[in-house]
Amino acid sequence: MSLQLLRGRELKPPLRRIPEPDSRPSLSRQEAKQISRIGRAPRKIALRFPVNPDTKVFYRRFYPGTSVTEWNDWHWQFQNRIRGLDELSRIFRLSEDERLAVAEHAGPLPVGITPYYASLMSRDDPGEPLRRTHIMTRAEGIRVPGESDDPLAEDHDTAAPGIVHRYPDRVLFLTTGTCATYCRYCTRARAVGNPGGEYQFSPKQWEKALAYLEAHTEVRDVLLSGGDPLSIGDERLDWLLERLRAMKHIEFLRIGSKIPMVLPQRITKALVKVLKKYHPLFMSLHITHPREFTDESREALARLADAGIPLGSQTVVMKGINDDIAVIKPLMHLMLRNRVKPYYLYQTDPIRGSSHFRANVEKGLEIIEGLRGHTTGYATPIFAVDAPGGGGKIQLAPDNVVGRDGDDLLLRNFEGGVYRYPDPGGTLGAGK
Ligand code: SF4
Repeated sequence: MSLQLLRGRELKPPLRRIPEPDSRPSLSRQEAKQISRIGRAPRKIALRFPVNPDTKVFYRRFYPGTSVTEWNDWHWQFQNRIRGLDELSRIFRLSEDERLAVAEHAGPLPVGITPYYASLMSRDDPGEPLRRTHIMTRAEGIRVPGESDDPLAEDHDTAAPGIVHRYPDRVLFLTTGTCATYCRYCTRARAVGNPGGEYQFSPKQWEKALAYLEAHTEVRDVLLSGGDPLSIGDERLDWLLERLRAMKHIEFLRIGSKIPMVLPQRITKALVKVLKKYHPLFMSLHITHPREFTDESREALARLADAGIPLGSQTVVMKGINDDIAVIKPLMHLMLRNRVKPYYLYQTDPIRGSSHFRANVEKGLEIIEGLRGHTTGYATPIFAVDAPGGGGKIQLAPDNVVGRDGDDLLLRNFEGGVYRYPDPGGTLGAGK
């Protein structure tokens, strides 16, 4: 007879404690043991990751003496992020504008670039897209009307520490304030990369957030974001996902991450093993530019897709970086080839100091026009503006309704031809 029956009630398994945070970010206990034994990352974890030829040249030049094993160890990449002026100047020929911006910077959203991601950037051209999105310029100091530190009013909709509850059946769970790299246009610029900042991991915060979710049984969908949830170590991530999965009302988990593109070495087999336990688990990947697709990021995406994790993309349209169909179309194709469904194309949020990134809304519509009908339907994402003030995502699409002629609705196709659709009794298009 089971213990449960003997006592006449069901026994719950003891709750696992939140694994202690590591001074080194995010090592699992087993990894830490192995590393302390041999003094560096285990070869079997590290060696299997590819290194693309350009990156190999870069790391030999700027990180001489670094072994492939170290380079491929995500902890090494994380710890050796490029954080300050000296390190930037060692690698990049900085413009005066970049140099002054970095020297004068104070507050959250510091510079932080993994050596791997730096290897994809131009060392000489400040206008190169990946460099522009990660090395600050003094344009960040310009504030124009309509900008704010928290344009989406997330703080207003914060129901518990780290929990933004805006939509009825789903929540955003800000799990950490840490990212592998810091994007200069980040919506949460106010909070990320600020040690001790608002969303920095603390067991107490997570416990309060989990208590809120346990009490709110209407929540069926949790999007883990931050910061980047994949910057959390395997053990703690496992713990968090297990707690969420144990709540019967939570049907669906999502992780928002940029790590597969900026620190692909993080997608270890051990991490994938953890993630696989918690299906249905989807991932929204922050992807900006075709230059982010390398042997390394393809390997990371393949590992996630092979684990049965549906992958979708989020791309922010930015002026002079990717606001061009000639950039976006190949980008969408690269995603599909790597099993990522182009999901959202976003207008840049009006955070403070973002005017140099913001393209006009018609640019986004123009891009959608350039995709629809001109390429695979799967390659066409949803274009949306996240409404300032907490209005949520508002989808925008080119208007293909031309008008109405009696019972016929007049529609425009992708080539501009007008076609009739019999629609007796309808009113759509009348008066156009
Ligand atoms: S990875 Fe995401 S959360 Fe981190 S800085 Fe970039 S946009 Fe912000």
